[in-house]
Amino acid sequence: MHSVTRNRIGLAAALLVLLSGALGLGATHTVRKGDTLYSLAKRYKTSVSRLKAANRIKDPTRMRIGQRLTLPGRSIKAKRGSTAKPAPTKKPSHSRIGGGKRVIIDPGHGGRDWGAYKGGIKESYLNMRVAKKLEYILKQRGYSTAMTRRSDRFVSLSRRAALANRYRNAIFVSIHFNSTRNSWVRGAETFYAGSAGRSLASSIQREMVRRCRVKNRGVRFARFAVLVRTECPAVLVECGFMSNASERARCATRSYQSSAALAIADGIRKYRWR
Ligand code: ZN
Repeated sequence: MHSVTRNRIGLAAALLVLLSGALGLGATHTVRKGDTLYSLAKRYKTSVSRLKAANRIKDPTRMRIGQRLTLPGRSIKAKRGSTAKPAPTKKPSHSRIGGGKRVIIDPGHGGRDWGAYKGGIKESYLNMRVAKKLEYILKQRGYSTAMTRRSDRFVSLSRRAALANRYRNAIFVSIHFNSTRNSWVRGAETFYAGSAGRSLASSIQREMVRRCRVKNRGVRFARFAVLVRTECPAVLVECGFMSNASERARCATRSYQSSAALAIADGIRKYRWR
């Protein structure tokens, strides 16, 4: 289970990207559905902090569709074939497998927030089981990791996102188990809020279905707080339904938790990390 933010990004239909650079004016970008400061920074070869400064953005969650952003940093002239020398691009480090990429692992809920509670099992506990296995696997594969919590304690959604936003070259994976009133509903699904998160979500969902042999509920767009407030590609994986008795029994086993962790790790490995 998860909670929704009242963010205004994504409320309206997509608007056109406006580049006034062609007229020799300062370059701008009109915010459209799925845009995050992180994705825009990558696209326009600048940084999140420069974008924030140029537009006096204090709270990135308050970016609106249709809002005109001034683009700082590297001139888009370079892209348009002028003689301007493009800024040197940083070479990614390949000294280790995973090349300095960091996965922020977010075990959902914790402390007084149990998430779902079914059959005497707290969702927050299952989330942590999968998260710790995932952390172990990713470290073995050479990725850097960070956990938004390591024990059974409450951590606010904004704090989780803020932690993720401290890192560069990161992705954010929130781990949950699902629950609904209809006890026959089962399966796994993965949520995203931005375009970069979408391909990560697809990659993870594919591996979840393959490895856990769980019903495929697909990838879905949702403006969950942890997805909208994180600047990097972010997904929320619902590993199975605790409200379905047989699925809950499976989810409670170590083997299922290990399979889910391996599936998420494989999904991350196959994701085209830009
Ligand atoms: Zn949850």
